[in-house]
Amino acid sequence: MIRLNEILDKVRGYSPDADLEVIKQAYVFSAMVHQGQVRLSGEPYLSHPLMVAFLLADLNMDVASVATGLLHDTVEDTLTTLDTIEETFGKEITLLVDGVTKISQMSFSTQEERQAENFRKMIIAMTKDIRIILIKLTDRLHNMRTIQFLKSEKREIIAQETLDIYAPLANRLGIGWMKDELEDLTFLVLKPEIYRELLKQVESKRDELKKYSREVMKIIEKELDKNNIKALLQNRIKHLYGIHNKMVVQKISFKEVFDIVAFRVIVKSIKDCYGALGIVHSLWKPVPGRFKDFIAMPKPNMYQSLHTTVIGPKGERIEIQIRTEKMHMISEKGIAAHWRYKESKGKIKQKDQESYDWLKRLYEWQQDVEDPREFIKTVKIDLFPEEVYVFTPKGDVKAFPVGATPIDFAYSVHTDIGNTCSGAKVNGKIVPLKYRLQNGDTVDIVTSKKQKPSKDWLRLVATPKAKQKIKHWFITEQRERSISLGRDILEKEFKKNGINFQKKQKSRHMNEAIEKLKAKNLNDLFSKVGSSKVLVTDVLEIFIPKEEIKDTIDIEAEKLKEVDKRKKLKKTSGVLVRGVDDIMVRYAKCCNPLPGDRIIGFISRGKGLTVHDINCSNLLDFSPERLLEVEWDTGFDEGVYTSKIMVSCENKKGVLGTIATTISEEDANITEVSVNVENDKAMCEFILEIKNLNHLKKVIKSVEKNKDIISVDRIN
Ligand code: MN
Repeated sequence: MIRLNEILDKVRGYSPDADLEVIKQAYVFSAMVHQGQVRLSGEPYLSHPLMVAFLLADLNMDVASVATGLLHDTVEDTLTTLDTIEETFGKEITLLVDGVTKISQMSFSTQEERQAENFRKMIIAMTKDIRIILIKLTDRLHNMRTIQFLKSEKREIIAQETLDIYAPLANRLGIGWMKDELEDLTFLVLKPEIYRELLKQVESKRDELKKYSREVMKIIEKELDKNNIKALLQNRIKHLYGIHNKMVVQKISFKEVFDIVAFRVIVKSIKDCYGALGIVHSLWKPVPGRFKDFIAMPKPNMYQSLHTTVIGPKGERIEIQIRTEKMHMISEKGIAAHWRYKESKGKIKQKDQESYDWLKRLYEWQQDVEDPREFIKTVKIDLFPEEVYVFTPKGDVKAFPVGATPIDFAYSVHTDIGNTCSGAKVNGKIVPLKYRLQNGDTVDIVTSKKQKPSKDWLRLVATPKAKQKIKHWFITEQRERSISLGRDILEKEFKKNGINFQKKQKSRHMNEAIEKLKAKNLNDLFSKVGSSKVLVTDVLEIFIPKEEIKDTIDIEAEKLKEVDKRKKLKKTSGVLVRGVDDIMVRYAKCCNPLPGDRIIGFISRGKGLTVHDINCSNLLDFSPERLLEVEWDTGFDEGVYTSKIMVSCENKKGVLGTIATTISEEDANITEVSVNVENDKAMCEFILEIKNLNHLKKVIKSVEKNKDIISVDRIN
């Protein structure tokens, strides 16, 4: 059993000014409340918190963490309350104990769903203070080291959970040795036969490997010495689970695993790191693609090192890591070492901020994971309440602000995907574009060449990127429309005045017009005419004397001007108009279009935009350049629209009443009825208030069901 003094000595070693009283007090408290309890191993219970505290000291953690190591099971396993802890040890330690207790109280079942829920809770606890995770990790490490005393089913559950959650966490936090040890401990529990067999094989080769390692190290040492690079050389046999994984992934036998030993060169400076690398590469040929410079580009968990693989003296692969002493310390102690460096620079008060920064990096860590799905499942869900994480169909993970929709997703893939996004499948089911993405959703975007962005989308998206892309699309689209409208108008008016528009496009006069009317170029001039910023007469004046200009009032431009003055009506109007900003909208009385009908807009002087059914016969009389493409605003489909139906029925008493009742039962209002009786038949025309096309269809169907009804038709 570890003794208190060993812990205190360790803490003194890295933190000479630390207030050790807190740790002593925690020890006394823990010993008191755990008194009489024994572990399954038969040892006094206190041995466990002592070991956890010792491991935390080994990680150079702060006093509060070490004290919490001693206290971490008091609330969970004794009658001690958090209040008592707070009275005795203050707020900081209480929060840590509470955090660890909360994680411990979660039972992670192997069922996916439950796991996700529990991970969520765990992560919420984690986000408060990353020290909680480190304390929990050391707790788990000691429990795994003594797991043989547990019953076998319990062992497996804990081992699996360790492999799924805690070993990856140790890795993310940059504590490589802990990850390795946790993996090997779970390996022994979960696959004991394979573990023992592999161990036997490694053991049988151990002497050979040692001899080989010495040879390799000697060669490197000699060359480094020649070049005056002082270095500490290390070698280690890879952990069993790592070797096992390699065999499984690469489908090879133990004999085929050549790089069982990994070498490490620890030098004084970064310059020496690269010097040593050069020497290693001059000794043996590097394997292409295996060199990684984590000094120039540190891993998100602060890990720095040079990694290379070379073809060694016997044609075998050798893995070599080169790093400075400081980098080595960070790689061994992970985040804990990072803290201490910061603390020694007098930034203790930023600790909380730093732990938050660290948590933020969890977001980036998933990049190291082979199957991103795994990491997201175990760690990332709800890590940051303001973000959601979703999968692409290929299993990649994308992060979005909460409230993001499939449109955000589409634009994150590609601008064209966004612009043509017509729908989405989430987890295999079609969802509307306004669907809010949820954690863990798999999103598959459906595109259509006919689809274009709608102004409505601006309200639906949550990412600045999508918003900007949509706006950009509208600006471009609007400009293109203005250019083409302006060109058409000019061409027509030029023709009226006997000027050849085509020929004049590159003429001196046209250049003069461009300059005088402050346009950047010809297209810009067209655009200015199209958007009514410049009148056609202003352009014509440059080509022919003012008094000779034929009476051509710029009707279209006038219309568009009027349209511009009537902003803000759009939102109640129920349609979206392409290419033109907010505009006054009316519904044509001749055809009474309903949401669901295909429609088109017509600009008429002083009346703004009139929406017609696309099949309305009146459209044939309109000049095509006054027609504008419009569509129903699906976000505002709660309006009431006028619709006419003609019911032909038997002229019987009470029929009209029956029809009226049926209509009102379908939630439609009748505003007008006119009846025309011919012999034994009646033709009844109803003017109704209808929500949309489907509503009208339902009304018609219900009326038709009546036995006295001959036919029901929508009329325009
Ligand atoms: Mn414990």
